[in-house]
Amino acid sequence: MIDYQGLKEKGQSLGLTYVVPLDCATIQILPEVRDMCAADKCHQYNANWAAPPACGTIEECEKRVRQYSRGLLVQTVGELEDSMDYEAMMETERIHKENFVKFDEYLSRLYPGRLSLGCGCCTRCETCTYPDAPCRFPQKLTSSMEAYGMLVTQVCQSNQLPYYYGENTIAYTSCYLLE
Ligand code: SF4
Repeated sequence: MIDYQGLKEKGQSLGLTYVVPLDCATIQILPEVRDMCAADKCHQYNANWAAPPACGTIEECEKRVRQYSRGLLVQTVGELEDSMDYEAMMETERIHKENFVKFDEYLSRLYPGRLSLGCGCCTRCETCTYPDAPCRFPQKLTSSMEAYGMLVTQVCQSNQLPYYYGENTIAYTSCYLLE
């Protein structure tokens, strides 16, 4: 039984803006999202152990996802001076990634078998060892939701979590599949 209230309080104390229950049955795995990775829009394709193709085929990713029924969806929401405020966007992304890793460390003690999927590829190391040497932290690497074929807006909508908070805001989303 997941203590959603306790985890929400913990996640928010670590800096996350929203921590809500995730019904894993609502997650759609969409090949077209994975195809965006192959188009190398984020420059991580074939460049990181947590990105395609190293993270496995979309079928293998879906098989992992379907082992879970409940989890958490988390967000960090930032404010921008205007829609061109890239500095604040990047800073919010940095903060979200930091929040995501801190909460992941906490959850690792409660749910050692969890699947944690972040926003963007694994950036735990300054430079990924891929493909010349094994991953430095195979127990800690995290793929992105998109690498697993998830459309973040769909997962948010299906779990009653807004994705857009109005003009001059930016939201970064990640999830943890727990049990
Ligand atoms: S933990 Fe380091 S080596 Fe492993 S995937 Fe992440 S960045 Fe690459």
